[in-house]
Amino acid sequence: MIEVVLLGIAQDGGRPQAGCNLDCCIDIHSKSELWRTPVSLGVIEEEELHLIEASRMIGKQLTLVDNKIPKSVWITHVHLGHIDGLGQFGTESMNTTRATLHCSEKVSKNIEKTPSLKLLLENENLVFGDWGVRNENFKITPVEIPHRDELGDNHALIIEGMENKLLFMPDHDTWNETLESVGYESIKEWLKNLEIDIALIDGTFWNDKEIKHRSQENVKHPPIEETLERIGMSEEDDPRIIFVHFNHTNPVLNKETKEYKKVIEMGWEIGTEGMKFYL
Ligand SMILES: [Zn+2]
Ligand SMILES: [Zn+2]
Repeated sequence: MIEVVLLGIAQDGGRPQAGCNLDCCIDIHSKSELWRTPVSLGVIEEEELHLIEASRMIGKQLTLVDNKIPKSVWITHVHLGHIDGLGQFGTESMNTTRATLHCSEKVSKNIEKTPSLKLLLENENLVFGDWGVRNENFKITPVEIPHRDELGDNHALIIEGMENKLLFMPDHDTWNETLESVGYESIKEWLKNLEIDIALIDGTFWNDKEIKHRSQENVKHPPIEETLERIGMSEEDDPRIIFVHFNHTNPVLNKETKEYKKVIEMGWEIGTEGMKFYL
């Protein structure tokens, strides 16, 4: 079986977030149990590790998977938290030999135009692999999903083993745009049609009021409140829906909050670092 380990659950900025002087991040220097690293998955196929997203906290994250050196890395889009660990494949850190880098055409163009990342390709620390792959043990299929795309496009990934299918969709703009782009009316209908067993989806914000200093205009992501309204209670035959990619301000990071409890009472889940899935 394929084992998938949730290596990080935070939004790109992580927790503590640089410059945040709110209760979520102030004075937590010595409280490492409150720190959270940007979203990432480790996919273990026999002895080999495939990494989904390259977070800058890769050093800490790999300790959850026996410090294996990734054989491949998959990038959903080029926003900060998803690619700022790519440099760790280079000579200053892991110095990998021909690890495969899987991403869309637009993302690969962006990487090639970034001198520090291009160097990784010139040194063959990384070589491009196919976007979408199938081998005897598992299959990864990208699905294009609308997300602010000033630097390239954005994809969700479907990871499929012999037994189960997992959807990883850490970032998107709005449910209306996403559902329209995949051609379904409801979230459950989409997931059921894809035969998804486990869905790790964008839970960046609890609601619109969370970020007072920024408008929803420039910070997209459907709030968890809206997603819950759309999916209702978990029913028999529904997939597991697990929220990930939490902003440092999100109340669901604390198990004692009413927001966390509401998600659990409705039968859904909040991702935690080290959570494992078997596909
Ligand atoms: Zn992100
Ligand atoms: Zn904060």
